[in-house]
Amino acid sequence: TYVIAQPCVDVKDRACVDECPVDCIYEGARTLYIHPEECVDCGACEPVCPTEAIFYEDDLPEEWSDYFRANVDFFAGL
Ligand code: SF4
Repeated sequence: TYVIAQPCVDVKDRACVDECPVDCIYEGARTLYIHPEECVDCGACEPVCPTEAIFYEDDLPEEWSDYFRANVDFFAGL
């Protein structure tokens, strides 16, 4: 899955939402989240993010490694 990390917080540009072919990017209070089971790993969202907040799970920078869990937990709480 792709994961949305810290640079999205309080930005929520939503350019990624328009690109996603399966509509698996959802809006939370302060950031957007990618549904880890609905994401088809197409990569379309990553280059359009103006803050470069989106990473493939294995490419998440170390300092944002918590965001994988944050995306999973967001959907667990819905
Ligand atoms: Fe949607 Fe593709 Fe991005 Fe996954 S990688 S969130 S399917 S645009």
